[in-house]
Amino acid sequence: MTAKETAAAALKFINEQLGERPVVAVVYSHSHADHFGGVRGVASIEDVNSGKIKIIAPVGFMDHAVSENVYAGNAMTRRMFFQYGVLVPRSPFGRVDQSIGKNTAAGNLGLIPPTVIIDKDIEEMTVDGVKMVFQNTPGTEAPAEMNTYFPDMKAFWAAENITGTIHNIYTLRGALVRDALEWSKQINKALYMFGQDAEVMFASHSWPRWGKKRVQEVMRAQRDTYANLNNGVLHLANQGVTINQIHNVYAVPKSLQEQWAARSYHGSVEHNSRAVVNRYLGYWDANPATLIPLSPEDSAPLYVEMMGGAKPIITKGKSLYKKGKYLHAQEIVNKLVYAEPQNQEAKDLLADIFEQIGYQQESPSVRNSFLAAAYELRSGIPTGASPKTAGPDMISAMTTDLWLDFLAVRLDSKKAEGHEFKINLITPDNDEKFVIELSNATLTNIKGYQADDADLTNKVRSREAAI
Ligand SMILES: [Zn+2]
Repeated sequence: MTAKETAAAALKFINEQLGERPVVAVVYSHSHADHFGGVRGVASIEDVNSGKIKIIAPVGFMDHAVSENVYAGNAMTRRMFFQYGVLVPRSPFGRVDQSIGKNTAAGNLGLIPPTVIIDKDIEEMTVDGVKMVFQNTPGTEAPAEMNTYFPDMKAFWAAENITGTIHNIYTLRGALVRDALEWSKQINKALYMFGQDAEVMFASHSWPRWGKKRVQEVMRAQRDTYANLNNGVLHLANQGVTINQIHNVYAVPKSLQEQWAARSYHGSVEHNSRAVVNRYLGYWDANPATLIPLSPEDSAPLYVEMMGGAKPIITKGKSLYKKGKYLHAQEIVNKLVYAEPQNQEAKDLLADIFEQIGYQQESPSVRNSFLAAAYELRSGIPTGASPKTAGPDMISAMTTDLWLDFLAVRLDSKKAEGHEFKINLITPDNDEKFVIELSNATLTNIKGYQADDADLTNKVRSREAAI
């Protein structure tokens, strides 16, 4: 789970209901924080260090667990307020859900590095008498992820690869666009390797599916959903449909639409279809008018002036709203809010429009994004407890390379203009060497080298370098 407190409560509940039992191993299914952050609630660092508890993880786990949240971490935290509507008041007209979870725990997120890495495509292991077959599925729902089959129990754990809904090819909080085709292929592999035999399938955020027939039905629905998204969108893109049109053109096949596991209870078809175009062709629609666009705040005043000012825009916006043409209303009232950010009448009208669009969404992430924006237009940015992603465990888990790369992101390039230096960094305890150079207002680093003409040579303990 996400936090130490919720994971400890879950373990306590299991022990109460099923009888006290020791924890002998923890398996991290993938590199997302809601699947490892609670580890300290079920395992202590002492028990892991002494070998009493194994921590098993897919290849690439540590790199991705940390790096996915570092480079653009601050922007992602801000965007999480939209996707998850973290601080939108709970009500039928506000936040009711967060897609595949009811809420993100606001407790302590931790990370204990794995002691056993699964690095083969398929790997078998017996822990405390329980036989497990791991299927590494990198580049699917997470960059490091694995499914697990328990052959003696005919039970298949689908990590977060097979859920009860269309997942995110692009997650609105922000992350690299995922590979829908690879995702589909890994589900297909699981279907043929384990799905022929499995009597129960369970997965993150989802309820178990019982019986071979039902297990296979859900696996097929999910496999075909991601494959169709990838292939169907590219088919249309090859006919000239652009990233700015695809969400209005691509549709999920009817046979899939009739299945629960192919509905948009998490990722919407609209933002996922745009993501597939973005993955293969990038964000540009090949119209030069969109290649170097004005910033919204520079474009909006011109539109408002040409539309005759605020008054006719509000009148037309209200009339479109009354007709239920919310996307059309949004188009013009959004320009007015950008041109006149102090105009509360315009902001309230845009908030009304956003709410109606939000209410029409099947995807809670899209609904939350509209409702959070509506809330901010009316009341400003909300405050309150929100998930913490950069605790001491996460920061000390950063490699020196990652830390130096992150430092380069933090650098204010304008202030660095005119400064230059070359530093040799040595961390003797883990035998790492770096050259760090500031030149042309840019900070770079290279591992494994030392400069003969360094301005400074710095020997530090690696953990110090990381903190
Ligand atoms: Zn998850």
